Amino acid sequence: MNELSLKPPMTPGCDEPTVLRERGQREVFCGLTGIIWMHRKIQDAFFLIIGSRTCAHLMQSAAGVMIFAEPRFATAIIEERDLAGMADANEELDRVVTRLLDRRPDIKLLFLVGSCPSEVIKLDLSRASQRLSAQLSPKVRVLNYSGSGIETTFTQGEDACLAALVPSLPAEAADSAPSLMVVGALADVVEDQFDRMFKAMGLDNVRFLPSGSADNLPPVGPNTHYLLAQPFLADTAWHLEDRGAKRIAAPFPLGEEGTTLWLQAAARTFGVSDEVFESVTAPGRERARRAMAHQSERLTGKRIFFFPDSQLEIPLARFLSREMGMVPVEVGTPYMHREHLAEELDMLPAGVRLSEGQDVDKQLDRCHADAPDLVVCGLGLANPLEAEGIATKWSIELLFTPIQGYEQAGDLAELFARPLVRRTRLEV
Ligand code: SF4
Repeated sequence: MNELSLKPPMTPGCDEPTVLRERGQREVFCGLTGIIWMHRKIQDAFFLIIGSRTCAHLMQSAAGVMIFAEPRFATAIIEERDLAGMADANEELDRVVTRLLDRRPDIKLLFLVGSCPSEVIKLDLSRASQRLSAQLSPKVRVLNYSGSGIETTFTQGEDACLAALVPSLPAEAADSAPSLMVVGALADVVEDQFDRMFKAMGLDNVRFLPSGSADNLPPVGPNTHYLLAQPFLADTAWHLEDRGAKRIAAPFPLGEEGTTLWLQAAARTFGVSDEVFESVTAPGRERARRAMAHQSERLTGKRIFFFPDSQLEIPLARFLSREMGMVPVEVGTPYMHREHLAEELDMLPAGVRLSEGQDVDKQLDRCHADAPDLVVCGLGLANPLEAEGIATKWSIELLFTPIQGYEQAGDLAELFARPLVRRTRLEV
């Protein structure tokens, strides 16, 4: 399988990379932000944030210009006065939920999403969801998770949401054929492309979590092999394994190489022949290479610095260094799951500085000293860095844009080329 023999890892046989661990002030969005992309995936779900006016403002501005006739998320604002008695707060919550479901009979799955304010922390949302579920099932299932900024960074909201969903997935029949579950929210267009490729390889039993509908949740059991599509799903993976599912180890499907290795890991698990794999993937690989080539002259040799934000940083650094010739100087991530990232870490360039957690002032000092060509960071850091003349890429865009798979590899490269081009124009 010559065509598929990929470049060897740049750090052969490295055991444990050296990681700078930092615990200081962080500049990240909270897990509520995940609702912005999760609400589009499960069409009959609703996310009811139990929060403050700050949470409502965050959701409004993060949702930006999106205006829906029938929005699928809202914030129930718990005011200070509700603290007087938790019974009041619970009754108020029940009233809000009843009103919502009366108005929106299409809702089949309701997530109660916790937040940071102390009055919300005191509310036992787990018990509230059980109470409401008992009243409302089987018509509506009520689950809960926390999107609080004290506990989560922005992509962990998706992890917490899916982890809450896993215990309610149906059980796969014990005698069922082995199945593949792709785990992590993907844009519909990407999901369709992967689904078509798996089917072309002869894999019929392929499901996606989250599914498009609460009535169509994928079953799980000891015959389920799951393939993570996102690197920030540690809790979800733990819950899936608790239900007997087995993880397929693979890098993440970013770029031509990552997508090939990701698909190949699944293909090998299900005994797909090299010939079939080659014939199914070759056209996509070729298209991806061609699309990426347009951007490579803009990116090759450029130095890139990642602030910790999305947990996509390590797979992105691997893609940008190996396929686009960029030079990562620091790759920061809020949290590093060594097992899920093992294949990615093996493919990073030797000597790259890895950091986990954040102490933002120290990290800014390192960034200034490194003087990179491009910085990937959250919105809070982007404006000040741009004002200093440093080109930035907002990491949140990588969650709102379809970036996985062959057909998106060129767009992914372009996301990093664009700020460099813009800065060149500003300098002219
Ligand atoms: S959950 Fe916490 S961090 Fe997030 S918007 Fe609400 S108050 Fe702010």
